[in-house]
Amino acid sequence: MTNLNKLSMDQVRNSLKKGEFSAVELAKSYIQAMEKNRDLNAFITETSEIALKQAEESDKRIKAGNAGLMEGMPIAIKDLFCTKGVRTTASSKILENFIPEYESTVTSNLFSQGAVMLGKVACDEFAMGSTTLTSFFGTVKSPWKDQKGEYTVPGGSSGGSSTAVSGFMAIGATGTDTGGSIRQPASFTGLVGAKPTYGRCSRWGTIAFASSLDQAGPMTRTVRDSAIMLEAMAGYDQKDSTSANRDVPCFENAIGKSVKGMRIGIPKEYRVDGLNEEISKEWDRIAQILKDAGAELVDISLATTKYAGPVYYIIAPAEASANLSRYDGVRFGFRADGPFDNLDDMYLKTRSQGFGDEVQRRILMGTYVLSSGFYDAYFTKAQKVRRLIAEDFKQAFEKVDAILTPSSPSSAYTIGKEPKDPLEMYLSDIFTIPASMAGLPAMNVPTNLDSNGLPLGMQLISKHFDENTMFSLASVIEEAVDFQLNPNGLKE
Ligand code: GLN
Repeated sequence: MTNLNKLSMDQVRNSLKKGEFSAVELAKSYIQAMEKNRDLNAFITETSEIALKQAEESDKRIKAGNAGLMEGMPIAIKDLFCTKGVRTTASSKILENFIPEYESTVTSNLFSQGAVMLGKVACDEFAMGSTTLTSFFGTVKSPWKDQKGEYTVPGGSSGGSSTAVSGFMAIGATGTDTGGSIRQPASFTGLVGAKPTYGRCSRWGTIAFASSLDQAGPMTRTVRDSAIMLEAMAGYDQKDSTSANRDVPCFENAIGKSVKGMRIGIPKEYRVDGLNEEISKEWDRIAQILKDAGAELVDISLATTKYAGPVYYIIAPAEASANLSRYDGVRFGFRADGPFDNLDDMYLKTRSQGFGDEVQRRILMGTYVLSSGFYDAYFTKAQKVRRLIAEDFKQAFEKVDAILTPSSPSSAYTIGKEPKDPLEMYLSDIFTIPASMAGLPAMNVPTNLDSNGLPLGMQLISKHFDENTMFSLASVIEEAVDFQLNPNGLKE
C-alpha cells in the first residue's frame, strides 16, 4: 500500500485491525513526509524515535485486541502542550530550552488512547497571533501557494498544526483556541478544526494564554477524524478547576445523522461592511446545502457582535499579563546575560530579550487595563459586556439549534502581504471571538477554494456541550461540498 499518510483515521483504524499494514509502517510514512517537507518549518522538535517506539507498542496492543481510540495514529502536538521529557517552547525564546517534568492532561489522554507523537509544532509565540509569523523559530509556510506560486501563511496561532495536517505530515494535530486559533488556521489550510465547549478539554499542563478562554481541540482532515480525536482528548480533570464534570459522549455517533428539522441561525451582524464577496456567496451556498438537507434557516440577530473584538483585546491581554509574569528568568528557561544592577534589572533584561514584540505589546496592554486607575473603566466594563455577548447567544439558542457563519473574513495571506498594523490584524478575528467569549463549541469546515486557489471555510456554533449537533451539520456539509485537500506547495 502506498501513500499511507493520505488515509483518514477510520481507514487507518480498519486497516490496522485487518493487519494490512502496521502502526510502525504508518509512522514511517509520516516521518518521511515530515522530513521531506522540513522547508515548511512546521516542526520545532521532531520526535521520530519516540514515534517509532510508541508505534511498536501500538502494534502489540492491536495484536492483543486492546486498541485505543487513537491507536497507532501519528499526530503532531502544538508546542503549547507540556510533554514530559520533550522540549516545550510555546514558540518563544524565553522557553527555548524548557523541558517539562510533566505531561499535559490532553496529551496524556491521547497517548493512553494509543496516539503516536511525531513531534512538537510551531505556533504564534504564546499563541498570540493569527499567522504563526511571531514564532521565535522562524516562518512557517502553509503547503498552499497562491496563484502566483507564492507561499501563504498557515493561519494562527495553531499554524504548525495546520501545516502539518494539511501537508500530510500528521494525521491530526492538537490545537488550542483562545479567540480562534484552531478555527482560523483550519480555515486557511482546508482543515476541520473544532473548539469544544470551554471546560471539555483540561487546560492542565497547557501553557496558559488567557485562562478563561483557552480551550484545546483537534485539527484533522475530516469531520469524523475530528470527532474521534476530540473524544480521546476530552474528559473531566480534577487538576483543572474549570474542567467540566460531564460525560464525554461518542462524538463519532453524530456523523452522518440527519439534520432534518434542525434550525440554523444566520446572524445578520456577521454580514459586516466590506465582507469579501466570495465569502459572502460561499456562506449563502452552504446555508442552502443545509436547507436542502432538511434544515430550516432562521435569520437571527447577535447585536453585541461588534463589541466582541474590543472586549477580547482587553480580557485576553489582561489574563495573559498575569499568566506570563511567571517567566522571570528565575523559574523557567531563558535568563539574559548579566551583570545586573539589581533584581529588577535582571527581570527587565530577561523579559525584554526573551519575549517577542507582540507578546510584549499584549503584556503592556494587559497591565494597563488592570492598573488601579483604569481597572473599572476597562477590565470590569469588558467583563460586563462579555456577559451580554453570552446572553445574546443564549437568546438566539432559544430559537435555533446551531449558527452558521464564515470562519474568517479572508482566505490565507500571502507571506509578506499580511496586515502589518496590529490593530488590523486583531480585526481579522471578528468571526471567531464571539463564540470564545461565550465558551460555546464552534468549528471550521472547509468548503471551497477561492479565486486565488486558497481554501475557504465556514464556522458552525452550537449550544454548550452540544458538540454533536455541530458535528452532524459539519458532516452533511462535508459530504455535499466534496472539498479536495490538494495543496500545491508540497514535496511528495
Ligand atoms: N488571533 C487571536 C489572538 O491573537 C486568537 C489567538 C488564539 O486563539 N490563541 O489573540
